Amino acid sequence: MEIVTKEFTIPTRGFNDVVDITAAVSDVLHLSGLSEGSALVFVPGATAGITTIEYEPGLLKDYPEFMEKIIPSNKTYHHDDTWGDGNGFSHVRAALQGASFTVPFKDGRLLLGTWQQIILIDFDNRSRNRRIIVQLTGN
Ligand code: ZN
Repeated sequence: MEIVTKEFTIPTRGFNDVVDITAAVSDVLHLSGLSEGSALVFVPGATAGITTIEYEPGLLKDYPEFMEKIIPSNKTYHHDDTWGDGNGFSHVRAALQGASFTVPFKDGRLLLGTWQQIILIDFDNRSRNRRIIVQLTGN
């Protein structure tokens, strides 16, 4: 068994920016030469998350709207008193979302569903450059 750890950087606009990172994760897998195992995808940072979605225009609005509804950005959070950076909502959304996602691969291909993409969602209240860590474990 082998472990391969790589990273790449994705620029985001913040404010629920949803970025499809499926192709970049697939590239890491192809370059690794590994055939079967699992891929852990992780974003370091407390105001972004990783999950899967069907990357289509409707859901790209639905998901941020859902986050706005359950964790509103126009409310004051205790975190804002701590740092004054005004992104308490970003942290709470990221905590709920989770920072990592794992997908199995076989025959050198990620075993995602046909309409299932891996996305980075940046909840912060400003643009960022996000490091994405991909750790492959397998043969
Ligand atoms: Zn903060």
